[in-house]
Amino acid sequence: MSDYDVIVVGAGPGGTAAAKVAAEKKLKVLLLERARTPGDKNMSGSYLFRNICEEIFPGFQQAEFHKGQCRIGGIDFRWAYDNDVKQYGMVAGVGGDAMRDMMMVYRNESDAWLANEAVKAGAELKTALATDLIWENKDGENPRVVGVVTDKGEFTAPMVIDAAGLHSQLAKRSGLVRWGPEKITLAIKYIYRLDGDIMRKRLTPYMDSDGVEVDWGAMPTMCGDDPCFWGSHAVGCPDRGIINIIIYHQLAQEMKAKVNIHQRAQWYLQTDQVKALLEGAELVQFNAHCLNIGDTVGYAPKSYLPGYVMAGDSGGFGQPVEDFGANVAQTMGKIAAELAAEMKAKKDYSEAMFAKYEERWRETWILSDNVPEMNTLMIKGYFQKIVGCADEAMATLFKMRFNNHSFPEIALNVVPKFGPAVPAIVAAIGSFKGIFEEAGNKIGGLMALMGMGKKE
Ligand SMILES: Cc1cc2nc3c(=O)[nH]c(=O)nc-3n(C[C@H](O)[C@H](O)[C@H](O)COP(=O)(O)OP(=O)(O)OC[C@H]3O[C@@H](n4cnc5c(N)ncnc54)[C@H](O)[C@@H]3O)c2cc1C
Repeated sequence: MSDYDVIVVGAGPGGTAAAKVAAEKKLKVLLLERARTPGDKNMSGSYLFRNICEEIFPGFQQAEFHKGQCRIGGIDFRWAYDNDVKQYGMVAGVGGDAMRDMMMVYRNESDAWLANEAVKAGAELKTALATDLIWENKDGENPRVVGVVTDKGEFTAPMVIDAAGLHSQLAKRSGLVRWGPEKITLAIKYIYRLDGDIMRKRLTPYMDSDGVEVDWGAMPTMCGDDPCFWGSHAVGCPDRGIINIIIYHQLAQEMKAKVNIHQRAQWYLQTDQVKALLEGAELVQFNAHCLNIGDTVGYAPKSYLPGYVMAGDSGGFGQPVEDFGANVAQTMGKIAAELAAEMKAKKDYSEAMFAKYEERWRETWILSDNVPEMNTLMIKGYFQKIVGCADEAMATLFKMRFNNHSFPEIALNVVPKFGPAVPAIVAAIGSFKGIFEEAGNKIGGLMALMGMGKKE
């Protein structure tokens, strides 16, 4: 007889979603979190996806922790060339309305709220560090996970949902994951305090009609020069009086370039815009975290064993390019919890039932979002090349136009500027096999509907 119906390890977005859904389905749920309070150890940019949060946690968007948060109004993505003398890039002010589905949060506040909702639904939250899996027949026939070992004792359940994040000890113990530096990016954060009114003058945010302050993305997200892929950005929140400076560096690239991530940070802090933003600000906190942005490996090939499933970052399931992963973790957590309820109802904990977990999340958008090939293009500098050529072309266009050259003549000069980008464009198209597969599936379905093409 097990202690619980399901044990959920980790009270981040994935674990809290799993615990809440399982508790609502009347399962006996244990939610384990190593931090003093959920979110205490977590760091992120960080945007939660409004709709999935509201679906699993009704009332999410009215929660107190959103007070004083701001939102990003556009996308500001640039490459710093020539050691910051010149920046190439794109600034798209898409506007507040379009960005309302991404909600900025501080994880120490939001994770605590989400965990509390799971507790209100009936889950038991325990502060404990899970250190290992408990196995039945580990080295014999049909091995199965039947619980977890923690610093507070051992707990058993017919299903363990591992939502312990990218460094999950249990995931390693399960044998399903083993990440190298190509999978992981180190992110560091310098957190500054600055008077909100002073910050407002520097960032010129505007107030959206729903009362949320919108930052125009004034601080560029900058990616470094070839061959080391790395990025940095600044996010200011005037009402909270906080500015976050975040630097990302993929570990394999960092090792190859032999640079210290703080060196990158110092470069960014000295760029004109950032320096002006931070004048007089006080550095109040530093933290570091890992994520799988810039990941050239992709997801774990298998996400379950009998008795055990990985949800979210524990299986490396964050989107590899921008690493929005909270939504993925929540979706997988929900799928796992629903399956736990189904297994209990059917009294069927067979391997075939656990396999359904993988079948189900693979039916969602999560599977086609696994496109680590795009990061290889970034790392090889292909996107930089394309943007750089576009910049050259624009510079030529304006120079000629304001010197009384005709448009046909300008075109003859501008078009060849894209020549050096051709190999990059060809490589980019070749790497987007996921897009073509997705398009092929959609067109195939449409053709089948119309009675055309091959039928299964
Ligand atoms: C700088 C940065 C910015 C990001 N920005 C965004 C963003 O804007 N939007 C987005 O969607 N994603 C973002 N991400 C990614 C996102 O944070 C993760 O994909 C997401 O948090 C994954 O959720 P999870 O529940 O799988 O794991 P986590 O959020 O990592 O939660 C794991 C939890 O398990 C606990 N835990 C770990 N080990 C144990 C153990 N042994 N025993 C008990 N408890 C344990 C941890 O303390 C933690 O609370 C960002 C990440 C970083 C680092």
